[in-house]
Amino acid sequence: MNRNNQEDTIVALATAEGKSAIAVIRISGAKAVEIVQKVFTNKKLSQARTHSLLYGTIKENSEVIDEVVISVFKAPNSFTREDVVEISCHGSLYIIKKIIHILISYGCRYAEAGEFTKRAFLNGRFDLTQAEAVADLISAESDIAHKIALNQMRDGFMKDIMQLRKTLIHFASMIELELDFSEEDVQFANRNELRTLIETIITAIKPLIKGFDQGNIIKNGIQTVIIGIPNAGKSTLLNAIINEEKAIVSPIPGTTRDLIEETIHIDGIMFRFIDTAGLRESADTIESMGIEKTKKKMQEASLILYIFDLVQERTERILEVVQELTNEKKKFIPIGNKVDECSPQIVELLKENTDFVFISALKKQGLEHIKEKMKEKMQIETIQSGKYIFTNSRHYEKFTRSLLSLQQVLTALDEKHTSDILAFHLKDALSLLGEVSGEITNEEVLRNIFSSFCIGK
Ligand code: GDP
Repeated sequence: MNRNNQEDTIVALATAEGKSAIAVIRISGAKAVEIVQKVFTNKKLSQARTHSLLYGTIKENSEVIDEVVISVFKAPNSFTREDVVEISCHGSLYIIKKIIHILISYGCRYAEAGEFTKRAFLNGRFDLTQAEAVADLISAESDIAHKIALNQMRDGFMKDIMQLRKTLIHFASMIELELDFSEEDVQFANRNELRTLIETIITAIKPLIKGFDQGNIIKNGIQTVIIGIPNAGKSTLLNAIINEEKAIVSPIPGTTRDLIEETIHIDGIMFRFIDTAGLRESADTIESMGIEKTKKKMQEASLILYIFDLVQERTERILEVVQELTNEKKKFIPIGNKVDECSPQIVELLKENTDFVFISALKKQGLEHIKEKMKEKMQIETIQSGKYIFTNSRHYEKFTRSLLSLQQVLTALDEKHTSDILAFHLKDALSLLGEVSGEITNEEVLRNIFSSFCIGK
């Protein structure tokens, strides 16, 4: 994809491929209306007002291909800011292919992945982070992921930063000017004002960087593992938690039962239970897996539900394990199972650790407490109230590096370094921030970003 063919009128199927009641074919570009009119029987298309619908047939020569409804969006009031025509036809693969081929024979070009969104970006509809949010919106799997992607697409989190960056450009050019007068030792840029500006930018991007981990939790879910000695009640617990939510236990398409991933949602956040197939099939997970494998599993997890058998296990041993996990700084929830059968003294003793949750997996008692603790451990309340959350590692990398450059500017100011050093770090920060928003970009970066989109988006 290169900028030269920005002039082309592009076409692609915008709905999922496969048989469906209706499919939507999207055409964008200066010739969208003209080309579609050539094959569409309703002659009103050429004069149609923006956001109007027209009914008619698509013909190739005299052969009717389909009866369709066409929506017209005139530039700049469309997604791409160009003229856009959307043809809603019947969802047969034959019809879809045929219509696209006819349109191509009249001068359209088949769109590349993400090209519609790329055009929207290049035509200034939104900044790059907002364009990237379109892809997140389409793949959002949970309530919160959806809200965040939608907010990011509609409002973006870059507006303030882009404004601050503009002011910073002014300071940077003043400092560049100082370099031209280096002999004369003049200062065009007020150092105190520059410092205040840099500090304001740092304050704006720090919470964004901090929110990245939370953003990923929202996007990808929390990897959770259930560990415990054989017969502690791991599979009983898993079943009890999962069965409450049967509707969302879904096999990953195309895999065998072994890879069934079990997920639950707590307040819109997804917890993914790792390696649960073993739990379902044998009761001796720890022994058959060996200590090493258990350790690996615990390392991969972001949250460990450590279940103790209060009937079988000695209190001292339980306390030892809890201590070990605490020392390793793992996020874990100690769970005492089988309270329906164990001696009340054990519960009394362990209660001293206020993190302990006591349950009977068999009788489904205490499960709500586990969920409460899961929320608490993963700080779900903060995640939900986090206004500035992004999930994209490209943004994370650029923000982290720009923070570093900005801090270097501060150090240079503190240590009264010369203008050339200030200019160097400022340039760095400016270009990194510009790369996040897409104010500075190149074809390769754009290609990378948009090629992960689907065709038609
Ligand atoms: P796993 O090996 O850790 O997966 O343990 P299981 O879930 O297979 O449970 C082992 C045995 O403990 C089974 O016979 C369960 O019915 C029993 N069990 C599990 N939870 C409880 C509980 O809360 N109370 C009692 N009394 N028995 C339980």
